[in-house]
Amino acid sequence: MNIGGFIPTSTIDFPGRLAAVIFTQGCPWRCHYCHNPILALGQVESPHDWEGVKAMLEQRKALLDGVVISGGEPLIQKDLVEVLKQIKGMGFEAALHTGGAMVNRFKETLPYLDWVGYDIKAEQLAYVSITQVEDSGVAAFSSLQVLLDSGVDYEVRTTVHWGLMSREELLSLSETLADLGVKNYVVQIARDGGTLSKELLAHNGSASEFEAGPLAEINAMFEKFSVRPAG
Ligand code: SF4
Repeated sequence: MNIGGFIPTSTIDFPGRLAAVIFTQGCPWRCHYCHNPILALGQVESPHDWEGVKAMLEQRKALLDGVVISGGEPLIQKDLVEVLKQIKGMGFEAALHTGGAMVNRFKETLPYLDWVGYDIKAEQLAYVSITQVEDSGVAAFSSLQVLLDSGVDYEVRTTVHWGLMSREELLSLSETLADLGVKNYVVQIARDGGTLSKELLAHNGSASEFEAGPLAEINAMFEKFSVRPAG
C-alpha cells in the first residue's frame, strides 16, 4: 500500500466514530478541483508504510473505534482488500473514501466495510469534464449501484465548483441520484485555491452562500441532505 499520510485521530472522516485516517497515494483521475494533487499524482515522500501504520493502530486499539482509508483513490492499491481484512482483524470498524474508479476491486472491499464516503462528481456523461478521463463516469455509476445494492452504510457526496457545474446541472444530478435510490446526500462546496487546475483559483463561494432555492429543492429529494465546505 502506497501511503502518503496518516492522521492518528479524526472525528470528521467516519460519522459517529473516532477514527484514524490512512491517505493512500495515486489516482487514475485528474479532477480540476483536486485539492490533493501531490497525493493524487503519488508524489508525497512519506515516512509511512503499512507495517508501521499497523503498529501505530495496534497501540491505539483502546482509543479508536475505526480506521478510514482515503486518498487519492484507494481502489488502485493492490493490497487494499488484504489491508482491510487486517484492520477488521484488529477489531476496528472500517471505512473507505472512494470515487469508485475500479468496480471489481470496490466489490471485493464491501464485505469488510462498515461505511463508505462515496464521491459522485457529475452526471455520467459529464464526468470527463471534471476528471479529464474518458468513460470515468461509467465506472463511477457502476460502483455506485454496487454500493446501493450492498446494504453497506454510506454517504454520497458531490464536490461542486461553480466553474465546472451549474446550479441546473447540480439539480439534475440530484434527481438522478434520488431516482437511483440514494438516501443520504451531501453537497461539498470546493475550496478556493490550491487546485490541480490553476484556472479554478477564482472565488467559488462558500457553503453558507449557497442559495436557499436549489437547497430546498435538493433537500426534499433525500432522507438526509446537507451542504458543507469540501474537506
Ligand atoms: S479529487 Fe479527483 S483527482 Fe483528486 S484524488 Fe479525488 S478523484 Fe483523484
